This record gives sequence, C-alpha cells and structure tokens, in this order.
Amino acid sequence: MVKKAKGKTTTLYVIDRPDLQRLFDVLIERGYDVIGPTVRDQVIVYDSINSVADLPVGKTDRSERGLYRVGEGEPQKLFNYNLGPQSWKKYLFPPTLRMWQARRENGGFVIEPEAHEPRRLAFIGVRACELSAMAVQDRVFMGGNYADPIYERQRENVFIVAVNCGKTNATCFCASMNTGPKATSGFDLALTEVLDTEQHYFVVEVGSDAGEAVLEAVPHRPAAEAEATATERIIAETTAHMGRSLDTTDIKTLLTDNYDHPRWDQVASRCLMCGNCTQVCPTCFCTTVEDVTDLSGNTAERRRLWDSCFSMEFSYIVGGSVRASGKSRYRQWMVHKLATWIDQFGTSGCVGCGRCIAWCPVGIDITEEASAIRAQNLAEKVPPIEKKRKK
Ligand code: SF4
Ligand code: SF4
Repeated sequence: MVKKAKGKTTTLYVIDRPDLQRLFDVLIERGYDVIGPTVRDQVIVYDSINSVADLPVGKTDRSERGLYRVGEGEPQKLFNYNLGPQSWKKYLFPPTLRMWQARRENGGFVIEPEAHEPRRLAFIGVRACELSAMAVQDRVFMGGNYADPIYERQRENVFIVAVNCGKTNATCFCASMNTGPKATSGFDLALTEVLDTEQHYFVVEVGSDAGEAVLEAVPHRPAAEAEATATERIIAETTAHMGRSLDTTDIKTLLTDNYDHPRWDQVASRCLMCGNCTQVCPTCFCTTVEDVTDLSGNTAERRRLWDSCFSMEFSYIVGGSVRASGKSRYRQWMVHKLATWIDQFGTSGCVGCGRCIAWCPVGIDITEEASAIRAQNLAEKVPPIEKKRKK
C-alpha cells in the first residue's frame, strides 16, 4: 500500500512471521554481525544473535522509577518490550577503548596505535527514541571541531532495522520529546509487529537504498490497506498510553533562570552520585583517559573510558573539583541534558527513553524534577525592574 504523509509517499510492505528468519540470514550472508535484543540474567540486553529464536520471544518488560523487570508476555510476540539498560551506544561509542599500546624495546618504547577497524553491524529492533539518540550523538561526534573518526567509521558500517513500539512503559516520554514512538528517519528498514487472531506479520517501511536491497532478498509483498492501517492504530495506541511527559516549553530559559532553585538541594539530598543515569543514557558522551602499565613496567596502554559528570574527578582541575557539591553535579547533568545542550548542538540531549528513571537506585525522575522547577519558577517572581536589569 502507498501511504501519504506530509506530502511524502511511502510504500509499505509485509514480511510474514515465518519469513522473518530470512532477514537475519540475508544480513549474515552480506557479512553483517547481527546485533539484537535477547534475554540474559532476566534483563533484555543487546548482543550478537543469529536467529529469530534468540529474540525475547514471548517476553515483556516493565519499568518504573528505580525498577525494571522482564516477565512473560504474549507468547508469540517477538518485540513486545521497550528498552533494557543498554543502548546501541555500546557499539558505536564503546565503554572502554584502547587508544594505543607501548612496549619497552632496545632501551626505549615502541608505541603501536590501535587500528580500530569498524565492524559491519546490523542492529535489529532499534526503537524510535534510540534512533533519535544516535542522531544526537552523530551531531556530537560527527559535526563541529571535535569529530571522532573512530565513531564516524563505525557509524558508516551500521545497517539499522528499526521496530516501532507496540507498547510503552511507565518511564517512557518520547511522545513529548518528539522522538517516538514511531521511527520516522535514520533507519534502513522499519518494522511494525502485528499479531491478531489470524495472522502474525511485520509491516515494513524502507528507509534507504541499502534497506531496499536487503528487502529484495527477503520474501515480502505489498501491504494491503488493512495491514497498513494496523500500523497506524498500533502507533496511536502506544502514543495514547505514554507513561510520562515532559513539558519542554521554554525549558532552556526555565532551567538557566533557576540555578538557585531550592529543588536542586532536595534532589541532591536523595541522589547517591552513582552515575547510573549517565551510564544508561543513550546520549551521554563524557569520557576520561587512563594510562595503565603492567607490573613489570615493560608494557603500557592508554584507554578511553566512559566517565560521568556525577563523579568528583570529572571536573577536577589544578587541585580541586569545579563541581564539588552533589547539588552542582546533579544540576550540571540535568541543565546540560535539557537546556545547554541546545546551545551546543541545536537539540535537546534527552530523547525521553526513561532509562535514567528506571535505573536510578533511588527513583529520581528527570520529568518530575523539571516539572517541580516549572511549578515554582523563581524567575517569574523576580520584580519587573530586576528582570529588566537581568536582560
Ligand atoms: S536523560 Fe534519561 S530519559 Fe533522557 S535520554 Fe538520557 S536516559 Fe533517556
Ligand atoms: S540521579 Fe539517580 S542514577 Fe543518577 S547519580 Fe543520582 S542516584 Fe545515581
């Protein structure tokens, strides 16, 4: 079926459930390492998978503040979950990366830079918010003065099969961030899983020439009108059941005008400064560099590691941390994510995936913190004359 949306025409196709394995086979035949969701240790993680059977078949997930559980869902469904703790950034921007190695030789050191050969990766099951998170990191690593060639080369070697969300969790707020639940760009193929009393199939939208070439090799047919409509119904239902929302109206001004808000003290009194929120966030990109030697002193290496703005060391310069208090570190994270990121990169640094809410051990909720500041906006209480001076 040909669907018209905002002046664009999109042809939709259908892959029937028994033919989905062929998609995996074609990607493997074309040299891709297929990475997708799979259940391990009662969590949905991303890892190398070879077949449909490796997906979280019949499983579902539940996230709330400080809580994440995987349980039984509709037995036949393959993508009836939202998000585990891991994001695709672990492949594009790995947690640990060796930059070079050195070994002692003839009284000196020989330095061997790391090759960082990109892998040919096919990501299966990328959600709309995660596509937006990749676009956010693309702006950080592939634009401006500080481009990362390692990221860029890996990014160019990724084939993306997005899957539109057919359910939401209590922690999801992509609809209010305009990042989901429907994948609109940044994919090669986008699937919507449809399971009704008679059929189980995937409606397919093609997003690139590479996607079209792969689809050609997989049994498929044009979507009938009823099948294409099923996608729209599923997306509408998912949007209607969104767990949370974040009001982004003038959020940059709201947060930067409220640096002295008492809410920062309240949230800091609860925050453990563990950095979980930054580790699970698909857009956080801060790193540190560590030099390591072996005990003999004959070999050494330099590593790049994920860091977190919640650690004291992160802002340590000439004898002290710039952000010594917990309050200043939480405020830095949230104001950067929702406000100053816009100055730097032209978009929000948050895509509404909700991982930081689920994986915060004390259940701190970024949407609640933002709305508490909005509810008591101190900038609005500044007398008009002072407001004028502030400008
Ligand atoms: S700040 Fe939280 S909700 Fe926003 S993208 Fe990061 S983990 Fe997801
Ligand atoms: S907000 Fe939560 S996850 Fe983030 S550092 Fe504080 S306690 Fe840890």
